[in-house]
Amino acid sequence: MIMKLRAEERHVLALVADDAAALHVTPPRVRFVESSGGPCYETLLNRIEIDRETLTLPEPLLRIVVAHEVGHATQRKSMLLDFARTLASTMTLLAIPCIAFATLPGEDLWRVSVPGLAFVLAFMVCAKIWRARGEKRSAAFELDADAKAASIYGSASALAALEAMATRRHISAARLDAMRARLVSGLQ
Ligand SMILES: [Zn+2]
Repeated sequence: MIMKLRAEERHVLALVADDAAALHVTPPRVRFVESSGGPCYETLLNRIEIDRETLTLPEPLLRIVVAHEVGHATQRKSMLLDFARTLASTMTLLAIPCIAFATLPGEDLWRVSVPGLAFVLAFMVCAKIWRARGEKRSAAFELDADAKAASIYGSASALAALEAMATRRHISAARLDAMRARLVSGLQ
């Protein structure tokens, strides 16, 4: 790497390595970006993106944010499986009009338009179901990543960080509630 890492970037890399060791997962790669879209985990690349704003966070917040992202790395297999399932479902759905097209007898217009229309309708219904399921799954992944961060730094620190983060950007009420419940129940 030609570009010299800044001290705060080196610090993030050290945090990622420590968190990955604590969570028994291969450390994901880290990419520092100029944008300010917030940190995120890229499943396909197994890479955490850290934006400029995140680098300026106070240490207690930064630690939880990084641990949360490393927490996502522990979910990589499930996330990839979800992705593969959706892809397989789409392919299956796509195969239906193809088979219908190949096997249905009759006029060309009939053979193209009816399976085509059926596919569009079926796709619209499935897309709606997949979207709802996807949202539910990603909400569950968020809670799990928070739990992983709490398992390293404790629920009290994780909750304090989530509450502080909520003043900066959107943090779902479900994540705050889950962490409060974790703290009350004495879970780490
Ligand atoms: Zn997340």
